[in-house]
Amino acid sequence: MPESPESLRASAARLNAEANRYEDHARKLRSDAGLLLTAATAAELKANEAIPVDRSRQTLTDGSPVPDDRSHVELKDNGQQRGYVVLSEEERARGFVRPVRRSYVHDRCGTVTTMSQSIAETYSRCPTFYSGTYCCGCGRHFPVGEDGEFTWDDGSGEKVGT
Ligand SMILES: [Zn+2]
Repeated sequence: MPESPESLRASAARLNAEANRYEDHARKLRSDAGLLLTAATAAELKANEAIPVDRSRQTLTDGSPVPDDRSHVELKDNGQQRGYVVLSEEERARGFVRPVRRSYVHDRCGTVTTMSQSIAETYSRCPTFYSGTYCCGCGRHFPVGEDGEFTWDDGSGEKVGT
């Protein structure tokens, strides 16, 4: 005898309830996995602090040599330097001690400025490498560091240069 519609519906409800339990469990497992990955990244950044930074290994952002005459520091019409010094690609590859973050907020004016990848990686390899940075809202450079004027735009509240 074929099953009644009531019985078929009851079976479907049981299967849906079971699927919901699996989904809840999967969500929990994904959340736990996320916490472990966050911890792994933090441990990796911490371990990299043991690798000393060689600040003498410098290039400009495009990998070209830093000019002997320091002509790269001349300001363009928008207030930016003609070029910026970064740690060399090899030095950056030795290990980050902070996450790579591309954007920061100027605390004073609220403008978000996004920098090139090589500058962002230089901050990540050596957070105290720079004494100041550029705000595209103000069109000028201001200090970074604990007493500086910039905060990473990642919700961490962490000051740029710390
Ligand atoms: Zn500004």
